[in-house]
Amino acid sequence: MKYTNQRVAILDFLKDNFNHPTVEEIFETVKQKLPRITKATVYKNLKILVANGLIKEVNIKGVSRFEAKMEPHHHIICTSCGKILDFKSKELIDYALKMIENQTEIIIDSAETTFFGRCEICE
Ligand SMILES: [Zn+2]
Ligand SMILES: [Zn+2]
Repeated sequence: MKYTNQRVAILDFLKDNFNHPTVEEIFETVKQKLPRITKATVYKNLKILVANGLIKEVNIKGVSRFEAKMEPHHHIICTSCGKILDFKSKELIDYALKMIENQTEIIIDSAETTFFGRCEICE
């Protein structure tokens, strides 16, 4: 994969942004640096970065979001303000994998769970 200006701009933005931005939000920011970029190009580059293992796509409530944090982790979503927090727990992943493998014939490679609740501000 070539590190084009567009891809570097997208990567730089995602490395400093932990809010799991949507294509729209990434486009709005990258556009300030690269005014001629289109949303379709941003989307295409995001897919290439995902395919190359540099970023991760997470589908939350049917919306594609992107992040540069590659270690497996869970997400906690505030149902009131929509904030998405990362939650790292290897124990939770190990437990989920073991449970599914004990109850099915499927070999599971990874598990990521989404939790819903209210954050400390909304509570
Ligand atoms: Zn909240
Ligand atoms: Zn995350």
